[in-house]
Amino acid sequence: MEVVTLDKKSKKVPVRGMMDNVMEQFNSAADHIELHPSIRKILSITNNEIVVHFPVKMDNGDVEIFTGYRVQHNNALGPYKGGLRYHPTVDIDAARALAMWMTWKTSLAGLPYGGGKGGIQLDPSKYSQTELERITRRFTFALADNIGPEHDIPAPDVNTNSQTMAWMADTYMSTRPPAERTANQHVVTGKPDGSGGLEGRDRATGYGVYLTIKYWAERNEESLDNKKFIVQGFGNVGYWAAHFLEQEGAKLVAVQDAFGAIENKEGINVEDLFNYSKVNNGSIVDFPESAVPAQNDFYAIDCDICIPAALGNQITKENAPTIKARLIAEGANGPTNGDGERILLDRGITIIPDILCNSGGVIGSYFEWLQNRNGELWQLDEVMVRLEKKMRESFNKVHAFAQSESMDMRTAAYCIAIKRIEKAYIQRGIFP
Ligand code: NAD
Repeated sequence: MEVVTLDKKSKKVPVRGMMDNVMEQFNSAADHIELHPSIRKILSITNNEIVVHFPVKMDNGDVEIFTGYRVQHNNALGPYKGGLRYHPTVDIDAARALAMWMTWKTSLAGLPYGGGKGGIQLDPSKYSQTELERITRRFTFALADNIGPEHDIPAPDVNTNSQTMAWMADTYMSTRPPAERTANQHVVTGKPDGSGGLEGRDRATGYGVYLTIKYWAERNEESLDNKKFIVQGFGNVGYWAAHFLEQEGAKLVAVQDAFGAIENKEGINVEDLFNYSKVNNGSIVDFPESAVPAQNDFYAIDCDICIPAALGNQITKENAPTIKARLIAEGANGPTNGDGERILLDRGITIIPDILCNSGGVIGSYFEWLQNRNGELWQLDEVMVRLEKKMRESFNKVHAFAQSESMDMRTAAYCIAIKRIEKAYIQRGIFP
């Protein structure tokens, strides 16, 4: 089970598979809480794995075959929930691992959801918008009743966005019997706000990342003012996290995306960079008033806080020894592997784990789902207040558990998440 990172600077670096990473984290917490052996067996494997191959007509009339995945890990607490990713690294290993992370994340956040994840193995930059629309619609059609508003509810992830979700919702609703069509818009979350989307869903993940960093600073009786931070990935999560941190007085000093990296020790204006990337094919490369970082390894750049907000397996034993940050806030899913994590913890570096740090996204998705289900329209300020409350509750319980058990925050987060699922299984028993 090997995946390959696509970091331009490090070229193609084989790293351990994401499943190895998530299973190592799961087993460590399961050992600690002495998880019931039968429940350990159940949670170690996915419930369903849907792989679809489907044809799509390209703009030039040719037909291409695509492979799409939807892995449903566990639904003991409610419908499967998790994003869809469009990226060349999407495969069954990545989808399984990401689906498992969703199970822990939704459980930790106290949501009535299980975990699922999927996507299509493709490089979206090679396709036109009309092709991407047909690919998305045909993928939704191929998934058919494997997704559904009370069964499995996808959301955006890497290279998918509110437009992708609008196409999916429209396709799913259009293929229902007439009387059921409009009642099904909560089959996906992360839709545009004119099409059943939640105001603020766009910023929910990045806002949550920022909040967990703020809570960490509060615990250490520190201010975020003038703290230097670096961000890998300047998409939905990276941009919004940087936006809120900048408002708090923190200074963005370096950014890396799929195309390259930039640095400015005096600080990079987040909104200017965002506007620049919009007219630069989504890339931050060659942003004026910045330079290409001197060092080869992005993670070795001097800073207080580091936010990985791109792909998995980015912090490993290769770069963990030279990381300068005192805090790693995992905006991405699975950015730190086991070897990397052990080095960071030995060095006294705090990690706010992905299943806590980026949980604002799925909490926002839950609000959207509730809004659609109940025929309501929530205001932005109400969304942000509710999101803050949920993030604070999650952070506090993870922090308190970690302190009381003298463990790192990731193991603490896993222990809390797994215990909740274990309780449901013990209460219900195993059918038949
Ligand atoms: P996005 O597509 O909006 O942005 C991804 C960013 O990562 C882009 O800037 C891209 O250029 C960059 N990138 C891609 N490959 C890279 C590489 N090899 N090196 C450096 N940068 C690279 O995606 P997103 O929605 O912001 O998701 C980012 C991460 O956050 C993913 O791990 C995703 O699973 C996780 N996440 C997203 C959400 C959400 O609500 N969108 C929620 C929870 C977790």
